[in-house]
Amino acid sequence: MPAERLRITEIFHSIQGEADAIGWRTVFVRLTGCPLRCVWCDTEYSFYGGDWRAIDDIVAEVASHGAKHVCVTGGEPLAQKRCLILLTRLCDAGHDVSLETSGALDVAQVDPRVRKVMDLKAPDSGEAKRNLWSNLEHLLPHDQVKIVIASRADYEWARDVVAEHRITERCMVLFSPVHGAIEPRELAEWIIEDKLDVRFQLQLHKLLWNDAAGH
Ligand code: SF4
Repeated sequence: MPAERLRITEIFHSIQGEADAIGWRTVFVRLTGCPLRCVWCDTEYSFYGGDWRAIDDIVAEVASHGAKHVCVTGGEPLAQKRCLILLTRLCDAGHDVSLETSGALDVAQVDPRVRKVMDLKAPDSGEAKRNLWSNLEHLLPHDQVKIVIASRADYEWARDVVAEHRITERCMVLFSPVHGAIEPRELAEWIIEDKLDVRFQLQLHKLLWNDAAGH
């Protein structure tokens, strides 16, 4: 039987720059391809190209870095169905695994040991129509919902959606400003003003490496 393969843009060893695992030394596995086109996307280089790699090889390369934390990201990793196999294999190997996903693809079959970091797309992303709301039913307490905010209108959308769906009762909610679109301090002040139980975050890798690929 041929080895099961995935199209991979890069595998690299760095520091987790966001979400609950921020600051941990982490191996990132970036899968190629995404069916969305968020206007502020910072990983457009992952849309095309990549190399077909056997899942066994990917798991071995991840292990060679000796890191407990592994983040499977993209692109949209779930656009490749065999991503589910990779996630389970990485958990079986004893890693603490997180999955960064757009919120547009069904997460129901993701191994429950994986911490899902799931976006909800706000209007200024241009992709809000892609939010798959049924995904909220599949969130576990260790998962996180992330909303990237580019304007006051995005913020109000995010605030209202979190309240309407009572998302903070399910899991942690992260609000993150779009780099260069709004002042991070503005977003921080809105959160304080409205007394929201959401977690403000800045992307650490942008501060450390100015978002260069491979970090
Ligand atoms: S879902 Fe993620 S990878 Fe895809 S376009 Fe949006 S930000 Fe970029």
